[in-house]
Amino acid sequence: MLVVIKIGGSILGAEDASPELIPDLKNVLSKNKIILVHGGGKEVTEIASKLGKEQEFVVSPEGFRSRYTDKETIGIYTMVMAGRLNKQIVLALQKQGIQAMGLSGLDGLLLRAERKKRITVVDERGRKRIIDGGYTGKINEVNANLLRVIIENGYVPVISPIAMSEEFDPLNVDADRTAAYIAGTLHAEKLILLTDVQGLTLDGKLVPKLPFSDVKETLPKIGRGMITKVYAAMEAINQGVGEVLISSGLEKLPISSSLNHECGTVISRE
Ligand code: ADP
Ligand code: MG
Repeated sequence: MLVVIKIGGSILGAEDASPELIPDLKNVLSKNKIILVHGGGKEVTEIASKLGKEQEFVVSPEGFRSRYTDKETIGIYTMVMAGRLNKQIVLALQKQGIQAMGLSGLDGLLLRAERKKRITVVDERGRKRIIDGGYTGKINEVNANLLRVIIENGYVPVISPIAMSEEFDPLNVDADRTAAYIAGTLHAEKLILLTDVQGLTLDGKLVPKLPFSDVKETLPKIGRGMITKVYAAMEAINQGVGEVLISSGLEKLPISSSLNHECGTVISRE
């Protein structure tokens, strides 16, 4: 089967990252095809700050937080995501004998997106404002053919969340939703969102299973970071993905235990 895995920036390079993550991935890869998507927002913010470009974040009325991406920021974002972080992952995979191919959404027009011309944001006092969307976008096309060629030949694509706009500018796209869109387009059986917490918690308790029919009403109760994942899960399932698993990449055998429902939150159609 095809498994799309998103590795959260929160676990990339984390000191407590599971040493079993890559061996586990290798094991799962022996029986399945895998596509990786990575995040890395925190690192972008750190490097931007070192370059003297403090990052600004905006929050939508629905509670989604995003980087305000002006021209200078998209340059730094591309450099860190498609450069440093992407190559770090490729190196780590190759070191353990996995044929990994790093790609941004710009390469081979892998990801195309519509630029968000205007976005609505809420300030600290809850007042809504409409601002220019900058270099952010919403994916509307995946080059599935290119991905098929890569996976059929035994390579693991490692994808950075950058997409090509209609005007051929790079756009910052959300990594969770990128993974969901890729999984949906390629009819993946599973989408795994690996993060730094056990899964979705509600009222202080881990939710082992969230039926698809409950997702919409649950969204307003979920905080930043996780809300994007649950929303992405909903989008993936709407596009026909069998099951979405949200779990911790810091645990033992994070991929195989998620697939076996031994940890995390399972979101599925029924
Ligand atoms: P990633 O880099 O993996 O995308 P994020 O920080 O964006 O990580 O998202 C994961 C975070 O979401 C968790 O560390 C947690 O603090 C936060 N979060 C907010 N609401 C919830 C919730 N209801 N259940 C679990 N985590 C939540
Ligand atoms: Mg996140």
